[in-house]
Amino acid sequence: DEHRALNLRMEPYGEDRSLLIGRDVTALYRLQGVRQDFVANVSHELRTPLTVLAGYLETLLDSEEDTQGEMFRILTNMHQQSERMRRIVEDLLLLSRLETSRPDEEYFESIDMRSLLETVAHDAQLLSGAEQHQIQLEVDPGLWLIGILRELHSALSNLVFNAVKYTPGGGTITIRWYQNEKGQPVFESQDTGIGIEPRHIPRLTERFYRIDVARSRTRGGTGLGLAIVKHVILRHDAKLDITSQLNQGSVFRVTFPASRAERHNSPSLTAGM
Ligand code: ADP
Repeated sequence: DEHRALNLRMEPYGEDRSLLIGRDVTALYRLQGVRQDFVANVSHELRTPLTVLAGYLETLLDSEEDTQGEMFRILTNMHQQSERMRRIVEDLLLLSRLETSRPDEEYFESIDMRSLLETVAHDAQLLSGAEQHQIQLEVDPGLWLIGILRELHSALSNLVFNAVKYTPGGGTITIRWYQNEKGQPVFESQDTGIGIEPRHIPRLTERFYRIDVARSRTRGGTGLGLAIVKHVILRHDAKLDITSQLNQGSVFRVTFPASRAERHNSPSLTAGM
């Protein structure tokens, strides 16, 4: 009486009959569960020692007076590497949470997307810093979304931060939020960056898949961002479309179900009582 997992498939069989083919994938499912638990446990165990290490390195850096010397250079490097490890561990933990738990309907709330996207745009401008990307918002302010705020914040930030990371300084990032002709809420992040060759596109959301590992590293990437995005999107029954042209730029589009859209009057329309 244990639970078994079956993969079922219908195939035509002769003129007017079909064959139902079942494959027992219980072992595969169990293995997947073991792998997910393992990754979650390892990440969890690594978290504390990494935090302690980063803390000590910071103290050493602060007390090093000769900021031109070899010791300072080495400590700075060690500190950067420990921060990188911490980011990877945090992303792995988030990813395993997204993979293993089903989203509870009670986590879904009405989200003022204009306000969320303004925050994302502001943070992206900070990330851009001296590189001075132009970040533009084209947002339908009355279009709200029923979703999981924390997860959407993380996923949509990831897409916009990638746009900044993979666009040379001075380029333009456009964030759009609108309702399409089918009534579906759509988020878009468009950049004028390095672009993506078509053959890479289907694999981009795999964990640790990076087109240029060196570039991703120097931009502070963990290779897990789009895997996180994919899972958040799945949990919202949304879909991700990526279109891109090498050396021209990319568009990452997320289309949500029409049933998750909500109309709110924007404050400017209700003001003046
Ligand atoms: P990373 O931490 O490396 O950015 P992601 O999972 O977020 O990892 O993205 C995976 C890879 O997809 C990146 O390393 C990069 O090669 C490519 N990529 C993601 N977004 C863009 C973009 N806007 N323009 C060009 N390439 C991108």
